[in-house]
Amino acid sequence: SLHITGVGKRFGPVDVLTNIDLQVRAGEFLSLVGMSGCGKSTLLRIIAGLESPDRGSITIGERDVTQVDPAERNLAMVFQSYALYPHMTVRQNIATPLRMRQLSAWARLPWLGALQPGRKAILRDIDARVQQAAELLEIGQLLERKPAQLSGGQRQRVALARALVRAPAAFLMDEPLSNLDARLRAHMRGELTALHKRLGATFIYVTHDQVEAMTMSDRVALMEGGRILQLGTPTQLYDTPASLAVARFIGTPT
Ligand code: ATP
Ligand code: MG
Repeated sequence: SLHITGVGKRFGPVDVLTNIDLQVRAGEFLSLVGMSGCGKSTLLRIIAGLESPDRGSITIGERDVTQVDPAERNLAMVFQSYALYPHMTVRQNIATPLRMRQLSAWARLPWLGALQPGRKAILRDIDARVQQAAELLEIGQLLERKPAQLSGGQRQRVALARALVRAPAAFLMDEPLSNLDARLRAHMRGELTALHKRLGATFIYVTHDQVEAMTMSDRVALMEGGRILQLGTPTQLYDTPASLAVARFIGTPT
């Protein structure tokens, strides 16, 4: 599980996050939802380690990672823009996190890289894992293509496969479907929930679309002005909104 305790963040004079407490359960699909500017991306970036909080702490399992480098947190971030490497094939894109991890291990222990048989076995293992992730996301036929030769939905799957190969403790997704057209977006919602079930992994999913949050998630945290207004299952938020603001956002008849 992932614990966020008393997290606050200020940009200049503005309190962008105020005293956020949130306990994400292992294996759950949790959405952060709210209007533009309410602090969703900032909270996700703080969890990922791309931004540091002014106050509060983040723990993953038993480990306090508040001061730990993003790369050491073992979390996978999936962006709206996919952030694929345009000059690389799909296969190389997916393999990159594993290769980087391996290259830095070899850089720390140069003699390890000199052991040629070991090196070959590791590269074969990376290939096998890339293949496995690609098949899981049904892009096994696209491995030699470049990102420019893919559709939006296919690019999104490559980004997911690249996150998947690292076997992260959790997947952090910031509006990963917002660049897709409405039909594909609806399709990918189903794909993402199916992937979540298959992996049994923790998903933290940022969206400003309440329908998306309500249909995909185990629990929803509704944010406004840097605070969490209510955290609960979609049913709880719909049936027993904690305030008029929650009811309005969710669309509960009042
Ligand atoms: P959206 O749905 O539009 O993506 P969001 O909920 O993700 O919105 P954030 O990106 O977290 O919102 O931004 C929250 C607030 O913090 C906004 O008012 C934004 O202008 C401000 N903000 C975010 N990043 C910075 C920054 N680097 N410097 C100054 N202000 C920032
Ligand atoms: Mg955002």
